[in-house]
Amino acid sequence: MLPDRYAFREAEPRLASLWADADLYAFDPTGSGPIFMIDTPPPTVSGELHIGHCYSYTQTDVIARFHRMRGERVFYPMGFDDNGLPTERFVEKTIGRKATEMERADFLAHCLELIQQTEDRFEALWRRLSLSADWHYRYSTISSQAQRTSQAAFIQLYKDGYAYTQVAPTLWCPECQTAIAQAEIEDILLPTLFSTLAFRVQDGSILPIATTRPELLPACVAIFVHPNDARYAHLIGSTASIEGSPFTSREHITVPILGDELADPAKGSGAVMCCTFGDSTDVLWWRTHALPLLAAIGRDGRMTALAGDCAGLPIAAARKRILAHLAEKGLILHQETIEHTVGAHERCGTPVEYLHTRQWFIRVLDQKERFLEAGRRIHWQPEYMRARYEHWVENLQWDWCISRQRFLGVPFPAWTCRACGEILLATLDQLPIDPRTTTAEQSCRCGCTDFDPEPDVMDTWATSSCTPLLIGHWPDDPAWFAQHFPATLRPQAHDIIRTWAFYTIVKALYITDEIPWRSIMISGHALSAQRSKISKSKAPMASGPMALIEQESADALRYWATSVKTGNDTFFNPETLAIGRRLVNKLWNASRFAEPRLKDYTQSFFAGAAPALLPTDRWLLSRMEQTIAYATRELEQGEYATARSEIERFFWSDLCDNYLELAKARLYQEGGSARDAAAWTLYHALLTVLKVLSPYLPYITEEIYQGLFRQWDGAASIHTSCWPIMHSERIDAEAEETGKMLLELLHQVRRYKAEHNLSVGAEVATLHINVPAKFQVTLASALIDLKSATRARDIEIVGTKFIAPNDLSTDIIE
Ligand SMILES: [Zn+2]
Ligand SMILES: [Zn+2]
Repeated sequence: MLPDRYAFREAEPRLASLWADADLYAFDPTGSGPIFMIDTPPPTVSGELHIGHCYSYTQTDVIARFHRMRGERVFYPMGFDDNGLPTERFVEKTIGRKATEMERADFLAHCLELIQQTEDRFEALWRRLSLSADWHYRYSTISSQAQRTSQAAFIQLYKDGYAYTQVAPTLWCPECQTAIAQAEIEDILLPTLFSTLAFRVQDGSILPIATTRPELLPACVAIFVHPNDARYAHLIGSTASIEGSPFTSREHITVPILGDELADPAKGSGAVMCCTFGDSTDVLWWRTHALPLLAAIGRDGRMTALAGDCAGLPIAAARKRILAHLAEKGLILHQETIEHTVGAHERCGTPVEYLHTRQWFIRVLDQKERFLEAGRRIHWQPEYMRARYEHWVENLQWDWCISRQRFLGVPFPAWTCRACGEILLATLDQLPIDPRTTTAEQSCRCGCTDFDPEPDVMDTWATSSCTPLLIGHWPDDPAWFAQHFPATLRPQAHDIIRTWAFYTIVKALYITDEIPWRSIMISGHALSAQRSKISKSKAPMASGPMALIEQESADALRYWATSVKTGNDTFFNPETLAIGRRLVNKLWNASRFAEPRLKDYTQSFFAGAAPALLPTDRWLLSRMEQTIAYATRELEQGEYATARSEIERFFWSDLCDNYLELAKARLYQEGGSARDAAAWTLYHALLTVLKVLSPYLPYITEEIYQGLFRQWDGAASIHTSCWPIMHSERIDAEAEETGKMLLELLHQVRRYKAEHNLSVGAEVATLHINVPAKFQVTLASALIDLKSATRARDIEIVGTKFIAPNDLSTDIIE
């Protein structure tokens, strides 16, 4: 029995606990049947979840539910990404103190406590949104298991020659005080003062040098000109200098003038200073011309002792003071403000520096072709997203820097021998290990037993790129791994193709020589009205997704989340939620209408062969089969939105507006074969709609299933019931043509009533119908439906000549 009314505020939490108690989404590792394995994106613990998360996670959940109903064993673990800089910054912000201001152990204790609380809140939201993940497999990237996997992967990469350490110029964030990778850089446009300085050449002439970074003068090591630049070519080989006091330790900064084709004659004065390091060209010149190394900026983003009276100043302050000194001495020839593109750290927005430090890298530059080839073996949905991956791979400029000079992360399982510099790795059974608190068990090849532990932690991506290995229980359970790797599907957003997707492919290829998943489904972003990605800071908890669910229902939020195609961004639109709510109500009302018409029938009646059907029934069933076929095809491709819109169209238009209108009289009859046919048809159509919509609207469909359909269909829950089975024999072109004709006749009568100010339900006396001859017989058997829908007391078929369906005519006598 369906309750009198559906109140989502009461029903949704009740159903959610029903599912949790029944452990409805538990993965069965020992069962038979194909495994559908999802390499879920573990949301980063760096703030609260927002509706942008609900957007993409719901899309994945729809796909998971679809495959579960198709009889696949869905392995849908859920993880949280809780190591690394984003989580550290979140903790620092929450406790109002910086990691550098306290003991490492104290900071980590704060982190772990906050992580636990936050993840429990995340899980509560996911359960309430009804993500059908199997929570027995909840994982976290700071857990010892994840650390073990990540460290084991590192060790294998090192042994295979893919991981290496070197002291070299590296991208550096002075705010976060750590090395970062190319993928973490975002280009930002900043207004910058472009100053032309007066260097003096040996021969006494002035050499103008334009720069946006005068604070790097203490680290100036050369001046470059283009070898073919007629203005300067004769200067190559001589030196130029500028006064260096008091902002450097040198009285004069004197540097060689060198030729290099990378010097752009059209930029600034055409002569450019090379400092160690202002940009990637400086790094290149420093390498190719074997220039000296002068570091003017320290790890903390402050000027070093090289910078004379500017030592200790932050970069911006030093820039100001040095320009003032130069101006005072009359050494500035020209100044203008320009819009300048600067690479900034995506986590904090600080312009990056290039610091000469020791870091760990994973080789990627020499393997581009291999990555491109792997990308082609993966199915991308939508297909065009593969181009983004390829573009990133083709434009890689740095090997992947994985070491971070931070706190909360997976340590490198290695030590360096103090005597000979050899790297010593931990053994597999020691993992996870922190080399800072555990010493190496073995001695070095040189006999020394004195080691320096690796002081750094790994970047968060170095571990999250292991998720397919982690859920595949690598390296500890080879039997499980053989069955659960590669994963079937990786769902993720488009902005992390260059990081998460790329790094995961790199790791999988290096560790297993396999692609990590067969398909990747790319989601877009939910945008706020200002067209920017909804970020955690803009969605405070008070009006976050949980509040929205309580106000609007999880079904409505999920409806909004599954309204646009894969890969597309969307806006948060309350009107879409309202449409979802209307659909929920309509499903409820249609089912309430159906209940008394179906309740007298038995399970074997509905499960049995179709009774003698009328043309209207055959038409609806044919439409239904087409709809199932279309929705199934689209969902197989991951296209949840197009699948859903076709089901909605079938439900609103074919089933409710038309079929129920036509078959109403039969359904109200006391009994008889015509009523049986309508009841049988309605049962199958409505149950099909509910099943096909259940991945989108898990609550309302379950409530109706439990109250009405379960007694006949027999599954414990609609979510573990079978996806509608295709009956292609029901696809019936003739029935569809008849259906079209009936609808056209109905339409004409409705129009007539409207034109004559009659209500839709107004009775008419006789309907004179002209139809093509071939419809004669079928029409005769559909007269009962036509009569009931038009409220005609009598219908006469007056003409039988062949006419096109558009020329059907009705003549109405009131
Ligand atoms: Zn930063
Ligand atoms: Zn040694």
